[in-house]
Amino acid sequence: MSEEILANLYRIEIPLPRSPLKALNSYVIKDTERNLIIDTGWNQEECMEAMQAGLSELGVDLRRTDFFITHLHADHFGLLSNLVTDTSKIYFNEPDAGRFRAGFRWDDFAHFARLNGYPESELQASLQSHPGFKFRPNSDLVFSILKEGATIRFGDYVFKCIETPGHTSGHMCLYEPNRKVFVAGDHILNDITPNIQLWSDDRNPLEEYFDSLDKVSELDIELVLPGHRSIFRNCRERIQELKRHHQKRLDEIISILEKGDKHAFQVASEMSWDILCDSWDLFPVSQKWFATGEAIAHLKYLKEKGVIRTEMRERRRVFSLDKNHAIY
Ligand SMILES: [Zn+2]
Repeated sequence: MSEEILANLYRIEIPLPRSPLKALNSYVIKDTERNLIIDTGWNQEECMEAMQAGLSELGVDLRRTDFFITHLHADHFGLLSNLVTDTSKIYFNEPDAGRFRAGFRWDDFAHFARLNGYPESELQASLQSHPGFKFRPNSDLVFSILKEGATIRFGDYVFKCIETPGHTSGHMCLYEPNRKVFVAGDHILNDITPNIQLWSDDRNPLEEYFDSLDKVSELDIELVLPGHRSIFRNCRERIQELKRHHQKRLDEIISILEKGDKHAFQVASEMSWDILCDSWDLFPVSQKWFATGEAIAHLKYLKEKGVIRTEMRERRRVFSLDKNHAIY
């Protein structure tokens, strides 16, 4: 159920049934004063059972427990509303807190998806199966906002907040400089690649992500505690791999557009995906949503670099290569 990673620092694996992510790593720091739980799992029964089992094994009293949430995704904070007590502080970042307060932006998502060629027949099913909608927390939450460089102390651990936008606009990691431990959320994962997606026009998440990877590369890190799958040590090497992965994706999109102009849904359907499925048509709708969001994030990056152009055709945004810009 729970596993001791370092002195008084534990991992509880929270299952994410039917998700390719498989499980979330929730980290618990036990102390005689207040405990800290980092990330929680979905607002869903199996997650709650695993969390309760882990906490009771560790003897954690929720009345003496605070929370740190790395980012606004339901697998990281959906369960929060079932765990907080009157005394709990919930540490969070402002950009993601603002999006949470705005609610699940159903109409905005639908509008942006249509603009990018998402078929009407699959749109409602995709939104209804979206974990951010299905497994979100069920009450208003009050956050204690942390910014870059702020510190929080639990037991012998003094964590410094590191803003790492990209996976979400406010994604925040924690760095313990004395132990050289890095709590990575979904910024850096070892066994899978963090999903970088875009569902609005106001950001360039892949550019943000590259910058955040470079920023973390400068830290002296010995142990990475990621939000999913295995704990690992080779942080700088993994950062380079992740950067190469996204460069390859950008190259792949350029070669897809070399064959003709396309909207983002079409681009996503022609990209290669690590999912056991014979064809794009057989993709689960929820995964088509993430794939299209990822294609949009990469297209936006290329557009900002001047490599591709967009124009509206039949109320859809179509991307084409700018022949004068072969290099990005
Ligand atoms: Zn996430």
